[in-house]
Amino acid sequence: MNCPACGALMVEEDFGGVQVDVCKNGCKGIWFDWQELIRLNEEHEGAGNALEEALKSPRVNDAGREPLNCPKCGMAMHAHKYSSAKEVSVDECYGCGGFFLDSGELREIRDNYMSEEERDAYVQKLLDETPEYKQMEEETRQLRAKAGRKFGKVLRRTIFLPIP
Ligand SMILES: [Zn+2]
Ligand SMILES: [Zn+2]
Repeated sequence: MNCPACGALMVEEDFGGVQVDVCKNGCKGIWFDWQELIRLNEEHEGAGNALEEALKSPRVNDAGREPLNCPKCGMAMHAHKYSSAKEVSVDECYGCGGFFLDSGELREIRDNYMSEEERDAYVQKLLDETPEYKQMEEETRQLRAKAGRKFGKVLRRTIFLPIP
């Protein structure tokens, strides 16, 4: 699979017991499948070094960037704000449910991390306001919401990583 941001070939890596695709040879972005996210064991602290690698990378300038196309299904991805306080966005594919995390965004995310309550409210807001989510079967919607919350937890972990 090729990186949606820079086009480099991505490498599969273990991430706390699940597989993620890491842009090791390019921008260090990380791709998460929602099916993998919901299997993520939260007790598992070892997240591989993908997050640390991403944290070391400079922030990509994605202002005014065209929407990324999903590397899995080709649909245009939706960038949404992770935090209202700062311009931190994550890219999500409403088609296949993947998340792409740009390298360098972690830095900002860790400065603006949300509490569990804020994060749950945020995921709920997305579910309520996103037309693509509204059209899904209830069961799928709930699973996607779960993946979204897990993704938030992954991001929160980065606040414990040392600043390179
Ligand atoms: Zn890349
Ligand atoms: Zn997709």
